[in-house]
Amino acid sequence: MIRESASVVIVGSGMGGGTLAWGLAQRGIDVLVLERGNYLPREPENWSPQAVFVERRYKPAESWFDDAGNPFSPGVHYVVGGNTKVYGSSLPRLREQDFEETVYPSGVSPAWPFTYADLEPYYASIEGLFRVHGTTGEDPSEPWRSSPFPYPALEHEPYVAETVRRLAAQGLHPSSTAMGIDYGPGGTCIRCRTCDGFPCRLGAKSDAETCGLAPALATGNVRLRTDAKVDRLVTEAGRVVALEGHLDGEPMHVTGGAFVVSAGAANSAALLLASADDEHPQGLANSSGLVGRNYMVHNNTHIAAVDPRRENDVVFQKTVAVNDFYRDLGDGIPGGTIQLIGKVQGSMMKTHATKVPLAALNRIAGRSMEWLVMSEDLPSAHNRVSVDRQGRIRVSWRRTNYDRHEKLLATAKRMLRRAGYLGIFEQRFDIALNSHMCGTAVAGTDPARSVLDPWCRSHDVPNLFVVDSSFFPSSGAQNPALTIGAQALRVAAEVDWPSTV
Ligand SMILES: Cc1cc2nc3c(=O)[nH]c(=O)nc-3n(C[C@H](O)[C@H](O)[C@H](O)COP(=O)(O)OP(=O)(O)OC[C@H]3O[C@@H](n4cnc5c(N)ncnc54)[C@H](O)[C@@H]3O)c2cc1C
Ligand code: SF4
Repeated sequence: MIRESASVVIVGSGMGGGTLAWGLAQRGIDVLVLERGNYLPREPENWSPQAVFVERRYKPAESWFDDAGNPFSPGVHYVVGGNTKVYGSSLPRLREQDFEETVYPSGVSPAWPFTYADLEPYYASIEGLFRVHGTTGEDPSEPWRSSPFPYPALEHEPYVAETVRRLAAQGLHPSSTAMGIDYGPGGTCIRCRTCDGFPCRLGAKSDAETCGLAPALATGNVRLRTDAKVDRLVTEAGRVVALEGHLDGEPMHVTGGAFVVSAGAANSAALLLASADDEHPQGLANSSGLVGRNYMVHNNTHIAAVDPRRENDVVFQKTVAVNDFYRDLGDGIPGGTIQLIGKVQGSMMKTHATKVPLAALNRIAGRSMEWLVMSEDLPSAHNRVSVDRQGRIRVSWRRTNYDRHEKLLATAKRMLRRAGYLGIFEQRFDIALNSHMCGTAVAGTDPARSVLDPWCRSHDVPNLFVVDSSFFPSSGAQNPALTIGAQALRVAAEVDWPSTV
């Protein structure tokens, strides 16, 4: 039996856990991070579309199951840094109204238990820590900010600049994407073609390992154990007293003063549910019955817009977003965001268009520009993560608020046709494309209607926290990682953490 101990024990080293470790390290707190995966190696395959997208080199060979018992391969990466090792580094803030209640025709997006103003100082801190590039004054939906972006916006390459001109000619306001990469004077980023969805071979992507955990370890206050999978939290007299699991295959028993679950929205819920005991028969932190429920993933569609008359020679494509419809889709109700993604190559299209010859896909990719259309989905008790008798993750999921997505998608297509794109191909995200998952342990002020308090502390178990995307009371319609990181810094700074075990 391997025994470890720390004042604060964190399960998971992704956006929530890695950033929290950094925040606690600044306060001199003794932290142990337990990560089920290992370091993602820097190797030539990092930038190989074949290895990353076709062979799924960095994804676990793990299946989750839908309601009908069909397996699917989830959007998770069990490595130091979690999903941020392959994320697209698009790091926008949510807008002020995302923290307030929004009434849609088919449901309600609930208010958060804290405001944009409460989180704003931590947005500013995380933007500095994650080297976010951006600019103000372009985006009609941008929230107020107390300080400028720490780094200037990335410039558009000529093909993108021409599309921006065509969109602006329609009266739209294309704006620079907020991006976390180490680009510019003295930076190590070379603006390559394989960033979004790929690990960075140069370590220049602002992921949770590079920007959170590594500097946290360097303080000497934080220790990391890799290949350390936590299976269960153990309670005594209403408090968590230990974690049990396996380290390098050996049984592990870890004690501490406070315990933080940061395993990602599905695995955090699964861990709490799997920790049911006599005192907590529905699972830990689950007197509300809401652990695992309210699972959200965004309503997302990828679009490939093809103009056969223009060759797209772009290298780094992800520099523009259109947020004109974010607050109002022409009917006074929010729509969402339309944003460029990294340049898709023919072999990446092949993973979905399996019957189309690669040569044809390469020809399309040479003349296409790829976008993500993202709108808000809504918390629903039906949509839930649970654990079956064999300990496998099961996901019950039905689309919510999808009429708004259809409307935004139609608007996006109209916008692109007017910009000269003759062919539009779409890929709607299904149950497996769940990388924006959140909401499985919502934060709130009422213990009957939420799992966590506004600082991510369990209402039921005072020394238990969940600091990752699980706490989101609603999903907004912007990429989630910056908000996860900002909340982790807020929790690190504002909670009275134990200094001893
Ligand atoms: C391809 C891709 C592109 C994306 N692009 C963007 C983007 O551009 N912008 C954006 O904002 N977001 C993006 N995302 C989403 C973003 O990465 C996630 O929202 C974010 O990483 C979630 O943070 P988290 O802390 O909740 O979980 P994660 O970052 O996934 O971290 C969870 C960690 O917990 C570990 N873990 C799980 N279970 C256990 C256990 N039982 N014991 C020990 N450790 C455990 C995992 O190995 C992992 O390291 C993208 C995701 C993907 C996959
Ligand atoms: S664009 Fe920069 S940060 Fe992204 S993978 Fe390439 S070198 Fe790394």
